[in-house]
Amino acid sequence: MRNRFIARFLSLTAICLLMAGVAHSTNNKNRHTKKIAKPRIAIAGLAIESSTFSPALTLEEAFHAKYGAEVFTSYRFLSADSPLRSRAIWVPTIIGKSLPGGTVTREAYESLVTKTLDALKKGAPYDGLYFDIHGAMSVVGLDDPEGDFIVRIRKVIGKQTIISTSMDLHGNVSWRLAENSDLITCYRMAPHEDAMQTKQRAVKNLLDRIESGKGKPAYKAYVSIPILLPGEKTSTRIEPGKSIYQAVAPAAAQPGIVDAAIWIGYAWADEPRNHAVVMVTGDDKEKVTQTATQLAQRFWSARSEFVFVAPTGTLAECLDKAIASNKRPFFISDSGDNPTAGGAGDVTWTLTEILKRPEFKSETGPSLIYASIPGPELVKAAIAAGVGNNVEGYAGAKVDARFAPPIKLSGKVEAIEYGDKDAEVEVVIRVGSVHVIVTQKRKPYHREADFTRLGLAPRKTDIVVVKIGYLEPELYAMKADWLLALTVGGVDQNLERLGYKRIQRPMFPLDKDMRDPDLSAKLVPLSGK
Ligand SMILES: [Zn+2]
Repeated sequence: MRNRFIARFLSLTAICLLMAGVAHSTNNKNRHTKKIAKPRIAIAGLAIESSTFSPALTLEEAFHAKYGAEVFTSYRFLSADSPLRSRAIWVPTIIGKSLPGGTVTREAYESLVTKTLDALKKGAPYDGLYFDIHGAMSVVGLDDPEGDFIVRIRKVIGKQTIISTSMDLHGNVSWRLAENSDLITCYRMAPHEDAMQTKQRAVKNLLDRIESGKGKPAYKAYVSIPILLPGEKTSTRIEPGKSIYQAVAPAAAQPGIVDAAIWIGYAWADEPRNHAVVMVTGDDKEKVTQTATQLAQRFWSARSEFVFVAPTGTLAECLDKAIASNKRPFFISDSGDNPTAGGAGDVTWTLTEILKRPEFKSETGPSLIYASIPGPELVKAAIAAGVGNNVEGYAGAKVDARFAPPIKLSGKVEAIEYGDKDAEVEVVIRVGSVHVIVTQKRKPYHREADFTRLGLAPRKTDIVVVKIGYLEPELYAMKADWLLALTVGGVDQNLERLGYKRIQRPMFPLDKDMRDPDLSAKLVPLSGK
């Protein structure tokens, strides 16, 4: 008993010593000396963006679920010696994060949710819960999965526990997710360089509200904005996304406000919740509602200024320009089947069109790298044939055959590589002047080394076609020129081709002549009221 007390005293002293020197050392010291009882906070959440326009399905393994103490490894700011870690008794349950993909199977969802709820039951009761989600999960036969998940969590932990939800700005905020979250926020940057900072803010706000005794913010303002745009048009590095998002942090810093956030929403799922949203939380009713409306109005008035981050065109236009250009390497994004946005990654349409072009039929044509197409049988045949020999077989369109059937490739095996964590085995097959990367499993090609390790030299190649949206930094740095081809697939950037049936209408930009919507803020009822 005595030893435990001394140990505790020493650890408190250590914490206080650590705190000395930081700006609010007195407050922190008071907290640790006056208030011994630390709040009890659970952590849970699942993150994926999944396209309902892709026939691909996502299984439980894709979430790489972390259980118990392993959960801490996902949050640098909760490392063993971090100040935030020392402020609570943590009950990490389960978190899962998947690469974007197709709809999650009902079995996978139920299994992960049930395990989370069981773990939450064991650790109850809680002062707080940190709900770490993306917000664009689609599940077979279930609308608004994150809303369903949080309602089921509430049934276990009760209405009094404060839930702080953090999300991707490409997530969707349904009314019931807003109702059951007491604090809610999302990233303010796309690309998401502030992901960890956002999660940390969500946790810090939760701790601050509990420790100060202020509890749940008194007001949550919600504005639904009838805009649905692809991420490739809404980067915060360029206007108008840049100014719209730059206004968020100052808005959140006002007295009487706890946090403010703007969600772009997720364009490749067909549900009523898919659209942009603004939410502001705080204790000053006037400030909270006014700020939410102002942020929403700013977004709405800039709606027509959103353009693609790169020049776009049909595939034929992009190939014509790339062939005629003297800028090398010339990159083309095969954006409709981008596997890191939720595409199946095995649509053969683009490759089929490329191989039809007369320019690439002979070995002396413009050199082109195509990355990539999954084809496990063709990989096997290439291994059997060996490097330097000819091979023939089919690849692609196992998952998504809506636009083109499996493609027959006939050419020379140029490379065979084993051991990539995603692709497992990769082969390069030369057809005419095209080097086609065929993989055992789907793999995104985002880095220069992804090419050079296969003996390819993208910098010395005329044209590089990649299944991707905006170019990842290494490819962006390498390109002499770049076009984003508006190709077909599960994440078609041409939203008008997707054929929505269930989103709310009218919706910008699908309904061209829509009137100005009502952007007044609605107050979301507090959870438990
Ligand atoms: Zn995102």
